[in-house]
Amino acid sequence: MLGSQTSMVKRLKEMGRRRQTIESVLSKVTMKDGCWSSSGSHTKDGYANIGWQGRTQPLARVLYEHFIGPIPVGLELDHKCNKGHLGCCNPYHCKPETKYDNMIRGNGFSARNKRKTHCNKGHLLTGSNLKYELNGARRCKECACARSREYRARRRAVSNG
Ligand SMILES: [Zn+2]
Ligand SMILES: [Zn+2]
Repeated sequence: MLGSQTSMVKRLKEMGRRRQTIESVLSKVTMKDGCWSSSGSHTKDGYANIGWQGRTQPLARVLYEHFIGPIPVGLELDHKCNKGHLGCCNPYHCKPETKYDNMIRGNGFSARNKRKTHCNKGHLLTGSNLKYELNGARRCKECACARSREYRARRRAVSNG
């Protein structure tokens, strides 16, 4: 008897968690200097997220769909205040954009790569030393040349030996 009661309480608790309302979400949000922050969970990159409708989603996305409207399929929210990684979830600071745009302007790998002024070996990434790959990544020509020189040298060594 006691066992079934505890399991019922457990089930009710789980249901409560699953039926998260926008009010309970907003009760965790504080507004400061125009940006909204949440006392709820965050990704390891600092973005506020939330378990919503059975999935973990960016909190800004849930709030955007509540306050502003549906986000077109395939688009992601870009934080125009650039404080998404600091936990800002103000939907009015967000604009739906394609993943690619978001990556270039955000803090993803390509964005960092795009801002790089020197390669890992310290060669300047400008003008004739700069080579663009199909995915938009910037590569150092000097390093690429050095690599193919090494490759040719190794092949020569193998054929001579
Ligand atoms: Zn913001
Ligand atoms: Zn280089």
